[in-house]
Amino acid sequence: MPEAATAPRKFTLGEYKTDVHVDWCPGCGDFGILSSIQQAFFQLQLPPHRVALISGIGCSGKTPHYVDTYGLHTLHGRALPVATGAKLANHQLTVMALGGDGDGYGIGAGYFLNSGRRNLDITYVVYNNGVYGLTKGQASPTLRKGLKTKSMPEASIQEGINPIAVALGAGYTWIGRGYALDVKHLVSLITQAITHKGTSFLDVYQTCPVYNDLRTKEWYAGEDIGHSRLRRLDAEADWDPVVHDPANKDEIVQKKVRALAASYDNDDRLAVGVYYKIDLPTYDDQLAGKIPALKEHPLIDLPLYERDVEPLFKELE
Ligand code: SF4
Ligand code: MG
Repeated sequence: MPEAATAPRKFTLGEYKTDVHVDWCPGCGDFGILSSIQQAFFQLQLPPHRVALISGIGCSGKTPHYVDTYGLHTLHGRALPVATGAKLANHQLTVMALGGDGDGYGIGAGYFLNSGRRNLDITYVVYNNGVYGLTKGQASPTLRKGLKTKSMPEASIQEGINPIAVALGAGYTWIGRGYALDVKHLVSLITQAITHKGTSFLDVYQTCPVYNDLRTKEWYAGEDIGHSRLRRLDAEADWDPVVHDPANKDEIVQKKVRALAASYDNDDRLAVGVYYKIDLPTYDDQLAGKIPALKEHPLIDLPLYERDVEPLFKELE
């Protein structure tokens, strides 16, 4: 008699959590991002042994310690290249790179650019708080000109960069922005970013109540101006971030220009949501086209040498 088929086991939310003590400061926005990542994995029912979280250095870098999947806490600014290696070695993994704004837009800026043009099927989440929190609040690349947080002796005299604009130029195929304290919306964005086939980039406004006393939760709530500073793109009837015909250059330009304009909104109406999405061939799929064995097995399962490499070694002697 054939064996009765057993229903796949459902993972619980608790299975995505470790028992490592979370040592971020009380009230840190990182808690909202951590919870959103765990809830997104749970909603997608990703088997924990099929997920790899790769982080850089900074407060955000501790995230893989708290999520019960594979994880690697790497070097400053190097989350993306390590995530790239993990995905190439095993394209069956869901790979998420994580880091702060100092980590990703400062020392890791070269990787941020070049990961955009590659379109490997991975997700990159940046915890953006405008400061280097782990090293006591120096201005990061996203702190706006003229702002002076409590740990700075003088206001910043250089402009902050616009990560959404950079991502649009670099070629990311899914670009979004969330807010750490709106967990429900952030879960939805992370879920969309993971399920997008290609490189997804999600910048998250994150509150650092210890060192950034300007971009507080009260500031985002707009308590001083009488309305939230956050504008939900997905609540706007005419907002459509999707490029419906990837062969249509005019549509691509039009969608990018619109996303760019939204990213430059003033401080009283910061846009959160999906800015841009296009379906293009992924690096993974193109690689599998060149190495057909990758369609059947990930690289880690393939024999090291499929053909005689002695002639090559001889040639290199
Ligand atoms: Fe969070 Fe800031 Fe504390 Fe780091 S320093 S854990 S970002 S509140
Ligand atoms: Mg930071």
